Amino acid sequence: MFPATFEYHRAQSVKEALSLLKRLGDGAKLLSGGHSLIPMMKLRLAQPSHLIDIGGVRELSQISEEGNKILIGATVTHSEIASSPLIKQKLGLLADCAAEIGDVQVRNRGTIGGSLAHADPAADYPAAVLALEAELELESEQGTRTVKAQDFFVDLMTTALRPDEILRRVVFAPIPQGAGYAYLKHPQPASGFAIVGVAALVTLGKDGSCEKVRVGITGIAPKPFRATAVESALTGKKPDSTALAAAAAHAADGVDCLSDIHASSEFRAELARVYTRRALERAIAACKP
Ligand SMILES: Cc1cc2nc3c(=O)[nH]c(=O)nc-3n(C[C@H](O)[C@H](O)[C@H](O)COP(=O)(O)OP(=O)(O)OC[C@H]3O[C@@H](n4cnc5c(N)ncnc54)[C@H](O)[C@@H]3O)c2cc1C
Repeated sequence: MFPATFEYHRAQSVKEALSLLKRLGDGAKLLSGGHSLIPMMKLRLAQPSHLIDIGGVRELSQISEEGNKILIGATVTHSEIASSPLIKQKLGLLADCAAEIGDVQVRNRGTIGGSLAHADPAADYPAAVLALEAELELESEQGTRTVKAQDFFVDLMTTALRPDEILRRVVFAPIPQGAGYAYLKHPQPASGFAIVGVAALVTLGKDGSCEKVRVGITGIAPKPFRATAVESALTGKKPDSTALAAAAAHAADGVDCLSDIHASSEFRAELARVYTRRALERAIAACKP
């Protein structure tokens, strides 16, 4: 399959990419790793008249630590995140999640910015980015604004990004010492995409009860979400098997689950409950009081 004709532009800086976006208007799309956009173009589901390649923009390709924040540039690849010593040490949940994406080729080309901007409902990162309460820096020629992960995902493949904006970087607070975490997914066997993916992050208090619980779920709904009913059901409780099962039972509360050839909406809801319980169990087992 061949995509429709387009013009290719290679931006050298964020400034140049933003100016191209503005000048070329609605027909222009940013190209990062190309592992979502190019397949869509080949299927003619997307037909941009201009591609602005940001793959060579160095200012977008860095992982850094500033004060108590970890900053990941939009064009950092899944492989770089999975193997970065800093991310493994301070944001292990994100590194584990990145390692679960697709296959080696996808991980070597695909980028965190491309994945989050694309907002495929079956993408892995959103679950971890939500559980880690990340913030996304969006830049346009008007300036930079910061959007919480919770507010970034708006609907099926729709985000808070405006057409004239670039997702510049994703900002994380490091995982607190002693916290336990896990990312578990039920993959679609051919692509690896998540039929359900659950990221859980838990800190325990001195008495062994759950002090902070964060659960991000992807795959089951048009957009990824924080399972706040699960979080509040477990917070303050001793995480025994009864409490975990009772909390996980809320994983799909109020969610209009997707249904397709891979899984019915009922099956997705059940998978969400089962994988939430398992992810919480694993996260709690990894807590260090
Ligand atoms: C065979 C295969 C298997 C896969 N399996 C998985 C999987 O298991 N889990 C998973 O999560 N993903 C999976 N993916 C998707 C993969 O992770 C993609 O790399 C990712 O979704 C998109 O990142 P990209 O850098 O390739 O973005 P691109 O394809 O270049 O861009 C995607 C979209 O984001 C926009 N965009 C890109 N960068 C920015 C930016 N900085 N600011 C604003 N907009 C931007 C583009 O304009 C485009 O609309 C798979 C893909 C393939 C081909």
